[in-house]
Amino acid sequence: MVMSENGRAWSLTERIGSGSEGVVYAVDEARPLVAKLVPEPPDPQAYRRRIARLVRQRREPRTVRLLSATPARVAWPMIGVRAGSRGADGIDGYVMTDMRHAHQPFVHLLTPDARRVLLPRATWATGLAAALSLARLLADLHTEGYVVGDLKPDNLWVDADGGVGIADVDSWQFTDGGETFPGRMGSPGYTAPERIGAPAGTAPDAASDDFVLAVLVHQLLMCGLHPFAGHPADGADYLSHDDNILHGRCRLLDRTSVVLSRSAPPADLLPRRIGDLLRAAFGGARPTAAVWAGALAAESAPGRLRTCGTNPLHTHTVERPWCPWCDLAERAADSYPARPAPHGRDGTKDVKGVRDVSENSVEEKAAWQR
Ligand SMILES: [Zn+2]
Repeated sequence: MVMSENGRAWSLTERIGSGSEGVVYAVDEARPLVAKLVPEPPDPQAYRRRIARLVRQRREPRTVRLLSATPARVAWPMIGVRAGSRGADGIDGYVMTDMRHAHQPFVHLLTPDARRVLLPRATWATGLAAALSLARLLADLHTEGYVVGDLKPDNLWVDADGGVGIADVDSWQFTDGGETFPGRMGSPGYTAPERIGAPAGTAPDAASDDFVLAVLVHQLLMCGLHPFAGHPADGADYLSHDDNILHGRCRLLDRTSVVLSRSAPPADLLPRRIGDLLRAAFGGARPTAAVWAGALAAESAPGRLRTCGTNPLHTHTVERPWCPWCDLAERAADSYPARPAPHGRDGTKDVKGVRDVSENSVEEKAAWQR
Protein backbone atom coordinates (compact mmCIF):
# COMPACT_ATOMS: atom_id res chain seq x y z
CA MET A 1 0.00 0.00 0.00
CA VAL A 2 1.22 3.50 -0.82
CA MET A 3 -0.42 6.74 0.27
CA SER A 4 -0.26 10.31 -0.98
CA GLU A 5 0.02 13.35 1.26
CA ASN A 6 -3.69 14.06 0.83
CA GLY A 7 -4.68 10.56 1.96
CA ARG A 8 -5.25 8.85 -1.40
CA ALA A 9 -4.19 5.16 -1.19
CA TRP A 10 -3.18 2.60 -3.84
CA SER A 11 -2.50 -1.11 -3.33
CA LEU A 12 0.68 -2.38 -4.96
CA THR A 13 -0.15 -5.45 -7.03
CA GLU A 14 2.99 -6.80 -8.71
CA ARG A 15 6.62 -5.81 -8.88
CA ILE A 16 7.33 -4.83 -12.49
CA GLY A 17 10.99 -3.99 -12.42
CA SER A 18 13.83 -2.37 -10.61
CA GLY A 19 16.57 0.00 -11.67
CA SER A 20 19.69 1.42 -10.12
CA GLU A 21 17.80 3.26 -7.40
CA GLY A 22 14.13 2.37 -7.47
CA VAL A 23 11.53 -0.37 -7.76
CA VAL A 24 8.41 -0.05 -9.92
CA TYR A 25 5.11 -1.68 -8.96
CA ALA A 26 1.76 -2.05 -10.68
CA VAL A 27 -1.07 -0.46 -8.68
CA ASP A 28 -4.67 -1.42 -8.36
CA GLU A 29 -6.32 1.36 -10.42
CA ALA A 30 -8.49 1.47 -13.53
CA ARG A 31 -6.14 3.92 -15.28
CA PRO A 32 -2.75 2.62 -16.49
CA LEU A 33 -0.60 3.78 -13.58
CA VAL A 34 2.41 2.44 -11.73
CA ALA A 35 4.22 3.44 -8.55
CA LYS A 36 7.97 3.92 -8.29
CA LEU A 37 9.51 3.64 -4.83
CA VAL A 38 13.07 4.67 -4.02
CA PRO A 39 14.14 2.85 -0.84
CA GLU A 40 17.39 4.65 -0.08
CA PRO A 41 17.84 8.01 -1.76
CA PRO A 42 21.11 9.70 -0.68
CA ASP A 43 19.09 12.51 0.92
CA PRO A 44 15.44 11.54 1.59
CA GLN A 45 14.32 15.09 2.33
CA ALA A 46 15.86 16.42 -0.89
CA TYR A 47 14.25 13.56 -2.81
CA ARG A 48 10.78 14.40 -1.42
CA ARG A 49 11.28 18.05 -2.37
CA ARG A 50 12.38 17.03 -5.88
CA ILE A 51 9.23 14.94 -6.38
CA ALA A 52 7.00 17.70 -4.97
CA ARG A 53 8.50 20.22 -7.43
CA LEU A 54 8.11 17.87 -10.41
CA VAL A 55 4.48 17.20 -9.47
CA ARG A 56 3.84 20.96 -9.22
CA GLN A 57 5.52 21.52 -12.60
CA ARG A 58 2.85 19.41 -14.30
CA ARG A 59 0.76 22.58 -14.40
CA GLU A 60 3.52 24.80 -15.82
CA PRO A 61 3.27 25.67 -19.52
CA ARG A 62 6.66 24.07 -20.33
CA THR A 63 5.60 20.74 -18.87
CA VAL A 64 2.06 20.91 -20.22
CA ARG A 65 3.63 21.22 -23.70
CA LEU A 66 5.77 18.11 -23.10
CA LEU A 67 2.84 16.11 -21.77
CA SER A 68 0.30 17.04 -24.44
CA ALA A 69 1.13 14.12 -26.76
CA THR A 70 -0.99 10.96 -27.00
CA PRO A 71 0.16 8.35 -26.15
CA ALA A 72 2.15 9.93 -23.33
CA ARG A 73 5.81 10.49 -24.19
CA VAL A 74 6.92 11.14 -20.61
CA ALA A 75 6.08 9.18 -17.43
CA TRP A 76 5.88 12.37 -15.38
CA PRO A 77 5.37 12.08 -11.59
CA MET A 78 1.65 12.66 -10.96
CA ILE A 79 1.66 12.59 -7.17
CA GLY A 80 4.19 11.85 -4.44
CA VAL A 81 3.47 8.75 -2.35
CA ARG A 82 4.92 6.99 0.64
CA ALA A 83 4.97 3.31 1.58
CA GLY A 84 5.04 2.31 5.24
CA SER A 85 5.07 4.70 8.12
CA ARG A 86 4.76 8.49 8.01
CA GLY A 87 8.00 8.67 10.00
CA ALA A 88 11.60 8.21 8.95
CA ASP A 89 11.08 4.52 8.04
CA GLY A 90 8.69 5.20 5.16
CA ILE A 91 9.80 4.77 1.54
CA ASP A 92 9.19 7.69 -0.81
CA GLY A 93 8.19 7.54 -4.42
CA TYR A 94 5.53 8.65 -6.87
CA VAL A 95 2.73 7.46 -9.10
CA MET A 96 3.18 7.84 -12.88
CA THR A 97 1.80 6.65 -16.22
CA ASP A 98 2.36 2.96 -16.92
CA MET A 99 4.39 3.17 -20.13
CA ARG A 100 3.63 -0.50 -20.85
CA HIS A 101 0.11 0.61 -21.79
CA ALA A 102 1.22 1.94 -25.20
CA HIS A 103 4.92 1.03 -25.41
CA GLN A 104 7.45 -1.76 -25.07
CA PRO A 105 10.89 -1.57 -23.51
CA PHE A 106 13.16 0.29 -25.97
CA VAL A 107 15.73 -2.50 -25.81
CA HIS A 108 13.30 -4.75 -27.75
CA LEU A 109 14.03 -2.68 -30.86
CA LEU A 110 17.81 -2.98 -30.35
CA THR A 111 17.90 -6.75 -29.84
CA PRO A 112 17.20 -8.65 -33.09
CA ASP A 113 15.85 -11.76 -31.33
CA ALA A 114 13.44 -9.76 -29.16
CA ARG A 115 12.49 -7.51 -32.07
CA ARG A 116 11.47 -10.40 -34.32
CA VAL A 117 9.08 -11.74 -31.68
CA LEU A 118 7.81 -8.59 -29.94
CA LEU A 119 7.94 -6.00 -32.76
CA PRO A 120 7.44 -8.29 -35.79
CA ARG A 121 6.59 -5.45 -38.21
CA ALA A 122 9.70 -3.47 -37.32
CA THR A 123 12.12 -2.69 -40.14
CA TRP A 124 15.10 -0.37 -40.50
CA ALA A 125 12.50 2.35 -41.17
CA THR A 126 11.08 1.73 -37.68
CA GLY A 127 14.55 2.28 -36.23
CA LEU A 128 14.79 5.50 -38.22
CA ALA A 129 11.36 6.61 -36.95
CA ALA A 130 12.42 5.82 -33.37
CA ALA A 131 15.64 7.81 -33.82
CA LEU A 132 13.60 10.79 -35.07
CA SER A 133 11.06 10.47 -32.25
CA LEU A 134 13.84 10.28 -29.64
CA ALA A 135 15.69 13.27 -31.12
CA ARG A 136 12.47 15.34 -31.11
CA LEU A 137 11.71 14.34 -27.53
CA LEU A 138 15.20 15.24 -26.35
CA ALA A 139 15.15 18.52 -28.29
CA ASP A 140 11.82 19.40 -26.62
CA LEU A 141 13.18 18.51 -23.15
CA HIS A 142 16.27 20.66 -23.70
CA THR A 143 14.14 23.56 -24.97
CA GLU A 144 12.13 23.43 -21.74
CA GLY A 145 15.28 23.32 -19.58
CA TYR A 146 15.40 19.64 -18.64
CA VAL A 147 18.57 17.52 -18.84
CA VAL A 148 18.09 13.73 -18.74
CA GLY A 149 21.60 12.87 -17.50
CA ASP A 150 21.13 9.11 -17.26
CA LEU A 151 19.89 8.66 -20.83
CA LYS A 152 20.01 4.95 -21.76
CA PRO A 153 17.83 2.21 -23.28
CA ASP A 154 16.61 1.09 -19.83
CA ASN A 155 14.86 4.44 -19.29
CA LEU A 156 13.24 4.51 -22.74
CA TRP A 157 10.14 2.99 -24.31
CA VAL A 158 9.08 2.45 -27.91
CA ASP A 159 5.83 1.61 -29.72
CA ALA A 160 5.32 -0.47 -32.85
CA ASP A 161 5.62 2.62 -35.09
CA GLY A 162 8.85 3.84 -33.48
CA GLY A 163 7.24 6.39 -31.12
CA VAL A 164 9.58 6.86 -28.16
CA GLY A 165 8.71 7.55 -24.51
CA ILE A 166 10.86 8.18 -21.46
CA ALA A 167 10.61 7.38 -17.73
CA ASP A 168 12.75 7.99 -14.62
CA VAL A 169 11.98 11.70 -14.65
CA ASP A 170 13.01 11.84 -10.96
CA SER A 171 16.67 11.49 -12.00
CA TRP A 172 16.61 14.49 -14.39
CA GLN A 173 18.32 17.80 -13.81
CA PHE A 174 16.14 20.90 -13.72
CA THR A 175 15.70 24.25 -12.02
CA ASP A 176 12.65 25.35 -10.11
CA GLY A 177 12.23 28.75 -8.50
CA GLY A 178 15.95 29.52 -8.81
CA GLU A 179 16.96 26.21 -7.21
CA THR A 180 18.86 23.62 -9.29
CA PHE A 181 18.03 19.97 -8.76
CA PRO A 182 21.15 18.11 -9.92
CA GLY A 183 20.85 15.22 -12.35
CA ARG A 184 22.28 11.75 -12.10
CA MET A 185 25.29 10.88 -14.27
CA GLY A 186 25.15 8.41 -17.13
CA SER A 187 25.52 4.64 -17.16
CA PRO A 188 28.38 2.55 -18.65
CA GLY A 189 28.39 2.81 -22.46
CA TYR A 190 25.99 5.79 -22.29
CA THR A 191 28.22 8.53 -20.88
CA ALA A 192 29.88 11.35 -22.82
CA PRO A 193 33.70 11.02 -22.85
CA GLU A 194 34.21 14.20 -20.79
CA ARG A 195 31.97 12.71 -18.07
CA ILE A 196 33.52 9.21 -17.92
CA GLY A 197 35.26 8.85 -14.58
CA ALA A 198 34.21 12.35 -13.52
CA PRO A 199 34.00 12.86 -9.76
CA ALA A 200 30.66 12.15 -8.08
CA GLY A 201 28.49 15.25 -8.18
CA THR A 202 29.63 16.35 -11.66
CA ALA A 203 26.49 17.68 -13.29
CA PRO A 204 25.33 16.39 -16.67
CA ASP A 205 24.34 18.95 -19.33
CA ALA A 206 22.46 19.03 -22.63
CA ALA A 207 25.71 18.31 -24.51
CA SER A 208 26.26 15.09 -22.54
CA ASP A 209 22.69 14.04 -23.47
CA ASP A 210 23.50 14.85 -27.12
CA PHE A 211 26.44 12.43 -27.09
CA VAL A 212 24.23 9.62 -25.82
CA LEU A 213 21.58 10.51 -28.41
CA ALA A 214 24.19 9.88 -31.14
CA VAL A 215 25.06 6.50 -29.55
CA LEU A 216 21.36 5.55 -29.53
CA VAL A 217 20.78 6.74 -33.12
CA HIS A 218 23.68 4.51 -34.21
CA GLN A 219 22.26 1.55 -32.30
CA LEU A 220 18.78 2.07 -33.78
CA LEU A 221 20.13 2.16 -37.34
CA MET A 222 22.67 -0.66 -36.86
CA CYS A 223 20.60 -3.45 -35.25
CA GLY A 224 21.75 -2.51 -31.75
CA LEU A 225 25.47 -2.28 -32.57
CA HIS A 226 27.18 0.19 -30.22
CA PRO A 227 29.24 2.75 -32.20
CA PHE A 228 32.27 2.03 -30.00
CA ALA A 229 31.90 -1.76 -30.20
CA GLY A 230 34.76 -3.89 -31.38
CA HIS A 231 38.01 -5.44 -30.35
CA PRO A 232 40.86 -2.90 -30.27
CA ALA A 233 42.93 -3.41 -33.43
CA ASP A 234 46.12 -2.16 -31.75
CA GLY A 235 46.46 -5.36 -29.72
CA ALA A 236 45.04 -3.89 -26.51
CA ASP A 237 42.48 -5.93 -24.58
CA TYR A 238 38.83 -5.07 -25.02
CA LEU A 239 37.73 -3.65 -21.66
CA SER A 240 34.43 -1.85 -22.27
CA HIS A 241 32.60 0.55 -24.56
CA ASP A 242 33.71 3.35 -22.23
CA ASP A 243 37.37 2.35 -22.67
CA ASN A 244 36.91 2.40 -26.45
CA ILE A 245 35.17 5.80 -26.16
CA LEU A 246 38.11 7.21 -24.18
CA HIS A 247 40.57 5.88 -26.77
CA GLY A 248 38.49 6.98 -29.77
CA ARG A 249 38.13 3.38 -31.01
CA CYS A 250 35.14 3.70 -33.31
CA ARG A 251 34.60 2.18 -36.75
CA LEU A 252 33.04 5.39 -38.09
CA LEU A 253 36.00 7.54 -36.98
CA ASP A 254 38.74 5.10 -37.99
CA ARG A 255 37.94 1.87 -39.80
CA THR A 256 41.23 0.35 -38.68
CA SER A 257 40.76 1.07 -34.95
CA VAL A 258 38.53 -1.92 -34.15
CA VAL A 259 37.83 -5.42 -35.36
CA LEU A 260 34.13 -6.25 -35.66
CA SER A 261 32.37 -9.55 -36.28
CA ARG A 262 31.19 -10.38 -39.80
CA SER A 263 27.62 -10.16 -38.52
CA ALA A 264 27.98 -6.39 -37.89
CA PRO A 265 25.81 -4.34 -40.30
CA PRO A 266 27.95 -2.51 -42.90
CA ALA A 267 28.73 1.13 -42.02
CA ASP A 268 27.80 2.20 -45.56
CA LEU A 269 24.12 1.46 -44.98
CA LEU A 270 23.92 4.87 -43.28
CA PRO A 271 22.61 7.79 -45.34
CA ARG A 272 25.51 10.18 -45.98
CA ARG A 273 24.13 13.01 -43.85
CA ILE A 274 23.52 10.66 -40.89
CA GLY A 275 27.03 9.19 -41.17
CA ASP A 276 28.45 12.74 -41.22
CA LEU A 277 26.50 13.73 -38.09
CA LEU A 278 27.59 10.57 -36.23
CA ARG A 279 31.25 11.23 -37.09
CA ALA A 280 30.83 14.82 -35.89
CA ALA A 281 29.18 13.66 -32.65
CA PHE A 282 31.91 11.13 -31.85
CA GLY A 283 34.72 13.31 -33.16
CA GLY A 284 33.97 16.28 -30.90
CA ALA A 285 31.66 18.59 -32.90
CA ARG A 286 28.48 17.28 -31.30
CA PRO A 287 25.20 18.10 -33.08
CA THR A 288 22.31 19.16 -30.84
CA ALA A 289 19.16 17.08 -30.55
CA ALA A 290 17.37 19.68 -32.70
CA VAL A 291 19.96 19.27 -35.50
CA TRP A 292 19.51 15.50 -35.26
CA ALA A 293 15.73 15.87 -35.46
CA GLY A 294 16.04 17.92 -38.66
CA ALA A 295 18.39 15.44 -40.35
CA LEU A 296 16.41 12.36 -39.29
CA ALA A 297 13.15 13.96 -40.48
CA ALA A 298 14.76 14.63 -43.88
CA GLU A 299 15.88 10.98 -44.15
CA SER A 300 12.38 9.78 -43.21
CA ALA A 301 10.71 11.80 -45.95
CA PRO A 302 8.72 9.99 -48.65
CA GLY A 303 11.05 8.86 -51.41
CA ARG A 304 14.09 8.57 -49.13
CA LEU A 305 13.43 4.90 -48.32
CA ARG A 306 13.34 1.76 -50.44
CA THR A 307 12.07 -1.73 -49.81
CA CYS A 308 14.04 -4.70 -51.07
CA GLY A 309 12.49 -6.77 -53.87
CA THR A 310 13.41 -10.03 -52.12
CA ASN A 311 12.20 -9.42 -48.57
CA PRO A 312 9.55 -6.81 -47.67
CA LEU A 313 11.10 -6.42 -44.20
CA HIS A 314 14.34 -5.16 -45.77
CA THR A 315 14.16 -1.36 -45.84
CA HIS A 316 17.10 0.90 -46.63
CA THR A 317 18.04 4.40 -47.72
CA VAL A 318 17.45 5.33 -51.35
CA GLU A 319 21.14 6.33 -51.53
CA ARG A 320 22.02 2.66 -51.41
CA PRO A 321 21.50 1.10 -54.88
CA TRP A 322 20.95 -2.41 -53.52
CA CYS A 323 19.88 -3.99 -50.26
CA PRO A 324 22.46 -4.00 -47.43
CA TRP A 325 20.38 -6.53 -45.48
CA CYS A 326 20.54 -9.08 -48.32
CA ASP A 327 24.34 -8.60 -48.36
CA LEU A 328 24.49 -9.17 -44.61
CA ALA A 329 22.18 -12.20 -44.81
CA GLU A 330 24.59 -13.75 -47.33
CA ARG A 331 27.59 -13.61 -45.04
CA ALA A 332 25.92 -13.87 -41.59
CA ALA A 333 22.33 -14.02 -40.36
CA ASP A 334 19.39 -12.11 -41.84
CA SER A 335 18.78 -9.15 -39.49
CA TYR A 336 15.20 -8.73 -40.70
CA PRO A 337 14.15 -12.25 -41.78
CA ALA A 338 10.87 -12.54 -43.70
CA ARG A 339 8.08 -14.18 -41.76
CA PRO A 340 5.84 -16.89 -43.10
CA ALA A 341 2.64 -15.20 -44.30
CA PRO A 342 -0.16 -15.80 -41.74
CA HIS A 343 -3.28 -17.41 -43.28
CA GLY A 344 -1.93 -16.95 -46.77
CA ARG A 345 -1.63 -13.18 -46.38
CA ASP A 346 1.46 -11.09 -46.14
CA GLY A 347 1.33 -9.64 -42.64
CA THR A 348 3.64 -6.71 -43.28
CA LYS A 349 2.34 -3.19 -43.35
CA ASP A 350 3.37 -0.72 -46.01
CA VAL A 351 5.79 1.90 -44.85
CA LYS A 352 4.93 5.38 -46.02
CA GLY A 353 7.23 6.57 -48.76
CA VAL A 354 8.71 3.18 -49.42
CA ARG A 355 8.78 1.92 -52.98
CA ASP A 356 9.72 -1.40 -54.42
CA VAL A 357 12.78 -1.72 -56.57
CA SER A 358 13.85 -4.63 -58.64
CA GLU A 359 17.09 -6.42 -57.99
CA ASN A 360 20.09 -4.41 -59.03
CA SER A 361 22.49 -5.76 -61.57
CA VAL A 362 26.03 -6.76 -60.76
CA GLU A 363 27.22 -3.86 -62.95
CA GLU A 364 25.28 -1.34 -60.87
CA LYS A 365 26.77 -2.76 -57.68
CA ALA A 366 30.27 -2.55 -59.06
CA ALA A 367 29.71 1.02 -60.24
CA TRP A 368 28.47 2.08 -56.79
CA GLN A 369 31.35 0.43 -54.99
CA ARG A 370 33.83 2.39 -57.10
ZN1 LIG B 1 17.10 -7.37 -49.02
